[in-house]
Amino acid sequence: MTTSGGAAPMTAAMTGGAPGGSAEDFLLALLNTTPVVDGVPTDELAGPARGRSWLAGQGGDGTEAEWRQVRAARDVLQAVVRGDRPADDLAPFLAGAVSVPGLEGGRVSWTLQAAPDRRLAVGAVLAWDQLARRRPGRLRPCANDSCHLFLIDRTKGNTARWCSMAACGNRLKARRHYQRSRPGA
Ligand SMILES: [Zn+2]
Repeated sequence: MTTSGGAAPMTAAMTGGAPGGSAEDFLLALLNTTPVVDGVPTDELAGPARGRSWLAGQGGDGTEAEWRQVRAARDVLQAVVRGDRPADDLAPFLAGAVSVPGLEGGRVSWTLQAAPDRRLAVGAVLAWDQLARRRPGRLRPCANDSCHLFLIDRTKGNTARWCSMAACGNRLKARRHYQRSRPGA
């Protein structure tokens, strides 16, 4: 996996090998593995079997070691994005990863080298860093307190508040409307 250089030397590594998926998509998918389903918090990475199959679907190797790494990185990433932990807590997940320059088609390209079971976790942390630098404040939790999902705001004015209008936006709007229409309630 390589990418044409520029300001994002490690971008290629962050696709996590997912077919057709971007590093950003993978990061968001990872952050959103703990959805609330019918009012019950769930975790798609909860156990090794479930977690490994999720990883395989994301271009990972689906090993138990990979699952442990990715799940641990996910927990810290979620806390960092929520502002509950400092970003430096992500440092352990980058241990041992190196980016190696090469020349391809007349341009410098960078290839990430990391142990196979760490590749996805490293990619997630790098994707988070890229987003934080290029579009600061765009990755955030859904504004619905009872929703555990995250969103990447791609609107021009940085005005998105919900993971999706269908799932949370309309529901909250309806609730507010209901409350407004019943002032004594
Ligand atoms: Zn939501």
